[in-house]
Amino acid sequence: MIQVGVNGYGTIGKRVADAVAAQPDMALTGVAKTRPNYEAEAAVRKGYPLYAAIPERADLFHDAGIDLAGEVEDMVMTADVIVDTTPSGVGADNRELYERYDTPAILQGGEDADVADVSFNARSNYDLARDDDVDTARVVSCNTTGLSRLLTPLIESYGVEKSRVTLVRRGGDPGQTSRGPINDILPDPATIPSHHGPDVNTIIPDVDIDTLGVKVPATLMHLHSVNVTLDEAPSADEVRDLLSAESRLFLVPEETGIDGTGKLKEFAMDTGRPRGDLWENCIWEHSVSMEGRDLYLFQSIHQESDVIPENIDAIRALLDWEDRETSMATTDETLGVGL
Ligand code: NAD
Repeated sequence: MIQVGVNGYGTIGKRVADAVAAQPDMALTGVAKTRPNYEAEAAVRKGYPLYAAIPERADLFHDAGIDLAGEVEDMVMTADVIVDTTPSGVGADNRELYERYDTPAILQGGEDADVADVSFNARSNYDLARDDDVDTARVVSCNTTGLSRLLTPLIESYGVEKSRVTLVRRGGDPGQTSRGPINDILPDPATIPSHHGPDVNTIIPDVDIDTLGVKVPATLMHLHSVNVTLDEAPSADEVRDLLSAESRLFLVPEETGIDGTGKLKEFAMDTGRPRGDLWENCIWEHSVSMEGRDLYLFQSIHQESDVIPENIDAIRALLDWEDRETSMATTDETLGVGL
């Protein structure tokens, strides 16, 4: 069994912890938190050992009646691997702690690419993280994950000459009360390209991609407007068949009446998905169109959850525990990925 510690228990961390607990070959060492808030209370109710992320704040947990299993260093010492799900930039500071105990670590997409030995997407470059010299992997952001999953099968089957993507981005996650805009539509960033294209190149170095970002008053999901010029000119049906064969790409059928991200989330909740999570890229099937060699489509990305299966696969890759197909199949089966 792989002993996994999760440092940082917010939007991504709590989902990673649940996913780790569901794996047949992993055990959750515990989770580290900075404050005894509602998420700490929920972790305790689930029976997850709780560690103080900031030792000086341990008394706050005692005052709140929450028992601690120890301090974050104890967790790092015990675990075979740490998944660091702290806010952007904090993971870079934590690297030294993981190195001190020789504990491999997985960082998240909010960190700069050079913070980790490799950037990771299971479908695109799993084997890079298996190298003996690799001790840290960065699971790229929700948007980069969604774009890498889409482009990789297109590159393999048809070749890609050029990709242009406009990312309509949610202003914040549902729990982020301080984020916005609440009544605006912002070019974000107004400069071009947005960071997403270069970030895709950390996963697929040779792909030619330009990205533009727009921020809108929504919390549910991101939406990508995608144009890819392929080297070949397959039919739209052939592209649909190719994409629907990928377990982490969900082609939303027209007849479901799902016309946007609101109904997608309803669908996820109605079908019993934990937290209404959508781990797959959600591609509107009837948007998939070909004009000559130009592919057009819309896809939505659930920012809070699409990176969760990738973190699980990154654990197995970093420890060279399983090959890509086995790991992805196990992750998909245990979580229920594939709509
Ligand atoms: P979050 O703010 O929801 O959670 C981070 C948690 O870490 C919080 O509970 C915070 O209290 C805790 N924390 C702060 N400092 C800490 C420290 N020193 N040690 C331990 N814990 C600490 O953030 P998030 O949305 O889960 O993002 C985490 C990472 O995942 C970031 O790199 C982010 O860019 C990336 N990511 C976020 C999303 C998303 O949409 N939320 C999607 C993909 C990737």
